Amino acid sequence: MSDPIKTVCPYCGVGCGLEVVPTVKGDKITGISKVRGDRSHPSSQGMVCVKGATVAESIGKDRLLHPMLRESLDEPFRRVTWEEAIDRLVTEIQKVRFTWGADAICMYGSGQFVTEDYYVAQKLMKGALGTNNFDANSRLCMSSAVMGYLQSLGSDGPPCCYDDLELTDCAFLIGTNTAECHPIVFNRLRKHHKQNPHVKLIVVDPRCTPTAEVADLHLAIKPGTDIDLLNGIAYLLLEWNYFDADFIEECTNGFAEFVEVVRHYPPERVVDRCGISVEDLKKAAQYWGESYRVLSLWSMGINQSSEGTAKARSLINLHLMTGQIGRAGAGPFSLTGQPNAMGGREAGGLSHLLPGYRSVRNPQHREEIEHFWNFPAGRIQAERGRTAWEMIEGLESGDVKLLWIAATNPAVSLPDLERAKKALKRSPFTVYQEAYYPTETAVFAHLLLPATQWSEKTGVMTNSERRVSLCPAFQSADGEAKEDWAIFAEVGRRLGFVEQFSFNSSAEVFAEFVKLTHNRPCDMSGLSHDRLREQGPTQWPYPVGETKRSPASSQRLYTNLQFATPDHRARFGAVHSKGLAEPHDPAYPFVLTTGRVYGHWHTLTRTGRTEKIQQLHPEPFLEIHPRDAKELGIIEGNLVEVRSRRGSAKLAAKVTRSISPGTVFMPMHWGALWADDAEVNALMHSAACPDSLQPELKACAVQVIPLTAVATARSEQFDRAIAAPAAIS
Ligand code: SF4
Repeated sequence: MSDPIKTVCPYCGVGCGLEVVPTVKGDKITGISKVRGDRSHPSSQGMVCVKGATVAESIGKDRLLHPMLRESLDEPFRRVTWEEAIDRLVTEIQKVRFTWGADAICMYGSGQFVTEDYYVAQKLMKGALGTNNFDANSRLCMSSAVMGYLQSLGSDGPPCCYDDLELTDCAFLIGTNTAECHPIVFNRLRKHHKQNPHVKLIVVDPRCTPTAEVADLHLAIKPGTDIDLLNGIAYLLLEWNYFDADFIEECTNGFAEFVEVVRHYPPERVVDRCGISVEDLKKAAQYWGESYRVLSLWSMGINQSSEGTAKARSLINLHLMTGQIGRAGAGPFSLTGQPNAMGGREAGGLSHLLPGYRSVRNPQHREEIEHFWNFPAGRIQAERGRTAWEMIEGLESGDVKLLWIAATNPAVSLPDLERAKKALKRSPFTVYQEAYYPTETAVFAHLLLPATQWSEKTGVMTNSERRVSLCPAFQSADGEAKEDWAIFAEVGRRLGFVEQFSFNSSAEVFAEFVKLTHNRPCDMSGLSHDRLREQGPTQWPYPVGETKRSPASSQRLYTNLQFATPDHRARFGAVHSKGLAEPHDPAYPFVLTTGRVYGHWHTLTRTGRTEKIQQLHPEPFLEIHPRDAKELGIIEGNLVEVRSRRGSAKLAAKVTRSISPGTVFMPMHWGALWADDAEVNALMHSAACPDSLQPELKACAVQVIPLTAVATARSEQFDRAIAAPAAIS
């Protein structure tokens, strides 16, 4: 028996520490015998949910083993060597670059990347090729949180830490089903809540989720009325004098404009719009006002909205008006969905960012990066590149000629999915770099590149509390798979940028990246792979010269109440509620909302291949309130069709009082490989927040139509795909 290997769970942004017990033959690791929680990891303290505990199960299943190529989507793939694959990719890049310009090339990456992958991809696209067309699936996940922090506090970066879960007097959870989506964060909070009767738990969610079930106060607001609620709470806090006049005076700007907006949100108006009682609204304001320390948590319910940034800012406003920030147990805390979405933000992993929390629009930032990378001045474009959805629009218009997708599955996760798929079909050349095969997106690829994944590659990930952990490679890659960063670097060298891409290891990549964080808000210039290996997971800021494993100064941001704006004052955002981009109407009388279930992860690429999780959640479903079900003649288990203006899905009805009348719910996980005709994003529209450009994946207007046939759990198409992968259509 060999010593357990310490690493981090590759699923969600909680970033739980894992101990992996390997199976060993001679001196060689041949597999994984057990995965358990790592008691020494400060974020998770030995806890782990079903996803982390079963992570090893999918590692060896349905892997993409070799590079594969085809000339058109109608043909089967043929196996090629890496040499031929990279040759072809470089030829295609050069053809597009010199014929249509670099902006005809796009890369769509992933919060599953380690930081080193993100960094080299940035350097390749924004530096070597000179296009900012690099976006990641984090655009669909938390870009509104990024923009909310930036606009209100002057910089991205969640100011809180997980210890605050055990130090708060009032937890305000809005747009987050934490119990199912971030289970270990919820475990910590729930334990504190149970043990301390004075601690209040408020949950704002149109559904009575497992999170809401244990709340002291559940506000089941109508979808899209979050800003009404938040401004309504602010109205009462002002009226009852529950605000911190000294903090507002000394540390903020824009309070007068905020008050001017808030006075339009008296309780009568708010409860009417939100569909809650005056008593509950007042109770929420009372809990906020009377609690010494208020911690708010949010995730996709706020971010995935056509007013996502405004929602995040409205929540931060409450913290600013009550001075609930910069101290233990208090602050606005966004929970990231993906394991390394935070690392992506640090490394410049969206089309408007550059490494070290820099912006492509800032001339000084561009100059600093160009100089450091040794590219000519003016190489980095001054405007943001295409977002994920704009890449689809670029394929539609013919402006995008080459799309490179890595570690994500947009043929399930993008909104307005049928339109997105049609656009993907039109792509002149699509490269798909992935660990698994088949996936729904592989159907649209010309060139498949096999990538290593968790346990097979060494890299760094940052979790929601800014804690940086090293995830070591401890077993060999399946087939001919290579690290994502190494593939990007190889292409960079083959394009002629030998000096810029001569990395020999991910440790070298990380060492280069952290230099670019020096004196930036996300300073981790004191970290290296060796340092992380020695001292374990470490929070940033961690500047060069720091020696302690956990400097108190990095636990929370803004403890000196100096914010990252030019005048060091935080900014109130004075915003009115606009509501949903597509509210219900007589033709489409229900609002469909979406979310995750406890065991599954994103588009099932891993958890669909994990037996225990498949048993927990074998099939998709539609939650509908008994009153609506009765009116439509639907009983539990009936097959129903859900139709929007863009598409439809068929699935089994789950009749439950957890959902409010007039609202229905579908989980977001099932794509075409895993269930017939049950893709939630076929229904969703692509309207996005004007500031963060994050699409409103949480709500659209639908009809619900009862059908008679019985729902099937597993897709016939999937069975066909497993039998003959190249034949998926
Ligand atoms: Fe992994 Fe998230 Fe579960 Fe922790 S809570 S074990 S990080 S999926």
